[in-house]
Amino acid sequence: MILLDGKKLSAEIKAEITAEVKQRIAERKKVPHLAAVLVGNNGASETYVASKAKNCAEVGFQSSVIRLEENITEAALLSAIDGLNRNPEIDGFIVQLPLPEHISVQKIMEAIDPGKDVDGFHPVNAGKLLQHLPTYIPATPYGILLMLERYKIETSGKHCVIIGRSNIVGMPMSVLMARNDYPGNCTVTLCHSKTKNLSEVVRSGDIVIAALGSPKFVKAEMIKEGAVVIDVGITRVESKETKSGFKISGDVDFENVAPKCSYITPVPGGVGLMTIIGLLKNTLTATRD
Ligand code: NAP
Repeated sequence: MILLDGKKLSAEIKAEITAEVKQRIAERKKVPHLAAVLVGNNGASETYVASKAKNCAEVGFQSSVIRLEENITEAALLSAIDGLNRNPEIDGFIVQLPLPEHISVQKIMEAIDPGKDVDGFHPVNAGKLLQHLPTYIPATPYGILLMLERYKIETSGKHCVIIGRSNIVGMPMSVLMARNDYPGNCTVTLCHSKTKNLSEVVRSGDIVIAALGSPKFVKAEMIKEGAVVIDVGITRVESKETKSGFKISGDVDFENVAPKCSYITPVPGGVGLMTIIGLLKNTLTATRD
């Protein structure tokens, strides 16, 4: 079994991005600038945005956070987005989810200039992804593709089973793994809560991508000998082993599944760290010369 080490790989790719930024500076080109819009005081969102800012600093990007009140009107948020769309200093930006209930996520996503939509959630970018055109691949699927590519994992002709069909992970991942490209050329099965005989379906997967948000859902008996297992799940669960009383759990029962795998990602230290790499690479792409 080989561990798909997100810590090691993300550090390697960050070093490559840092070198590219230095090269840009030497050529007097623009330094990439990523902005994040943060609405309200959601603790998890604060943590994610702080981590994005820290990672930007590490690779030499500029970053800024636009903090807005929880009770901001939809019109005022749309106006803030319009400002970012027009600001030539900002190369790409994200609107951190979730948003307060009185705001339509769809309306907000559609208001982002597709050229600055480094999360790749705008319908124009999602459509381009579907047609295999150059676009911003959503950060988590992008991070997974990089992982498969850098570890030179064979994907052509394999059966890839994905559990979870969200717009940010499962659905785009299914499109990417089915494309005539590398990584890709898989026969893809996209599973969800209505899938019948799920264990049987997962057991037929050469590559299994678990993105459902249910701790340790994927058990050893659901995995074929020699499969590649990618665990996207991140759930905070109670734990007596940590000072905080909580730990992060993936969707895969790692301890029992790992011995059967050819490759597997740990949680933490796997896909989560690659997701930020996807975002940094999209921001670099968004930066005009
Ligand atoms: P989501 O919007 O929470 O949706 C979950 C998906 O899983 C849905 O499609 C649902 O089916 C399916 N599902 C739920 N229970 C199921 C079951 N028992 N059997 C089969 N399918 C089931 O998904 P998400 O936002 O992609 O998040 C999934 C997990 O990934 C979460 O733990 C999240 O925290 C994590 N995540 C991690 C990263 C990272 O960087 N590592 C990034 C994003 C998300 P239906 O469609 O039928 O409801």
